[in-house]
This record gives sequence, structure tokens and C-alpha cells, in this order.
Amino acid sequence: MLELNRLCVDYGTTRAVRELDLRVDAGEAVALLGPNGAGKTSTLHAVSGLVPARGTVLFDGADITGHSPSEIARRGLVHVPEGRRVFPSLSVHENLRMGRIAASGRRGWTEDDVYALLPALVPLRDRAGYALSGGEQQMVAIGRALVSAPRMLLLDEPSLGLAPVVVRAVYDALARIATDLPVLVVEQNTVEALRLCGRGYVLAAGRLALSGTADELADRDSLLASFLGKR
Ligand code: ATP
Repeated sequence: MLELNRLCVDYGTTRAVRELDLRVDAGEAVALLGPNGAGKTSTLHAVSGLVPARGTVLFDGADITGHSPSEIARRGLVHVPEGRRVFPSLSVHENLRMGRIAASGRRGWTEDDVYALLPALVPLRDRAGYALSGGEQQMVAIGRALVSAPRMLLLDEPSLGLAPVVVRAVYDALARIATDLPVLVVEQNTVEALRLCGRGYVLAAGRLALSGTADELADRDSLLASFLGKR
């Protein structure tokens, strides 16, 4: 479904991603893990056309390297960015409807489908974006992505800054979404990400440090922990 071949991202003299090979097959949820500054966000930005990259990005067999972010989104490769980017002055419902613009006529999830998946949003339907908690904003960002008719979701740190109980709610929703759509999720929360994903890749200083099934990566926890600077 998504295949990166020798992907490189440079910012001037900073080499953020070096020769990364990665694939996500149809029906898979895959984690991209690693510490701060490892190159995870740069990888997602390169896939979405937000930063220039070398190497190739194939989506559903088509070479999308160097395509614009809007072209890539129109193909159904939809990015839920770090920081959520909910429109602060629009209500929850209006934020969800904004997903239809990116859908550009393709059939996505309806707003009602989103409320069924994320019932916590039902009583917040008319609340403005600025008045939402971080977890509520994350749910709106995911819901808006679903309305935009995705064929695959790219998620950047969906657990960032959220309380554990909220992280669990977000990941429960992602588990239901992943039965329907392939997902590539960037995370520092390895436990939640590996609970969701069948496989993962670990980046360290822009290079692939490890890859394997979730069980293999969990078994190599101490190695992983050293990359993540924990324990
Ligand atoms: P985080 O979890 O902190 O977001 P990350 O793994 O996503 O980390 P990136 O944000 O991709 O890592 O950063 C990789 C490297 O590229 C870091 O050294 C970072 O300082 C650098 N970098 C990221 N964005 C830019 C930019 N716009 N200009 C210059 N350097 C950048």
C-alpha cells in the first residue's frame, strides 16, 4: 500500500532521515518509533509532500515522490499532524465537515459515522475547537481525517500530551479504524503503539535501528528502551 525506498530528508546540513526503507501493506497497522529528533515526523512530512525528499514514495503502486500535499491527500493518503490543528473558532461539527473539502467529492465516513465511533464527541458537537481538551481535539482531528475519505491514515504522535485514560480511548478508536484502513502511526508511546500495530520500525538519529513484529520489538524492550532513552 505504502512503500518508502531509500528515503532521505535533509534540512540544510542536518540529515534528518537517511536511506529509510519502510512498507505498510493493505490491512496493516505499522508503528514508526524512536526518540525525539529521530526523524519520525520528517518521514511523515516527506510522505505527505510537506518537505522535499530523495528516494521514492510509492502509494498503491503509484510514485507520489515530490507530489504536492493536496495531490497526495486527494489520493486518500491522509495525515493527522502532531498538535492536531483543530480550527479553534469552528465547532466540533464544523471541524468534522471540513474533512469533506479534502475528500473532494469522494465518499468518506459521514459525520454520523464519526459520532458512532467516538461517542464522546456527541455532547460536544456545538463546542468550539478552542474550548476542547487535548484528547477531544485529537478525536476531532481523527474524525475529520475519516470524513476526508482516507484510503490510509498517517498519524503523528496521537498520544502526545494526553492523560493515560485518554490515550487509551484514542487508541481504542484507532484499533477500530485499523480494521478498516491501513495505518502508519508515529509514536514515542511504544506500549500503546505496539498494542495497536502488528509491526514496527525504530528510528535513531535518522537511521533504521530496528524493525520487526510487535512481539519481537516488545521482547527487545531493553534495546528499544535504550533507543528511547527510557529506564
Ligand atoms: P519529535 O518526536 O521531537 O517530533 P522526530 O523523531 O519526529 O522527533 P524530526 O522532527 O523529524 O524527529 O527531526 C529530525 C531532525 O531534523 C532533528 O535533528 C530536528 O532538529 C531536525 N529538524 C526537524 N525539522 C526541521 C526543520 N524544519 N529545519 C531544520 N531542522 C529540522
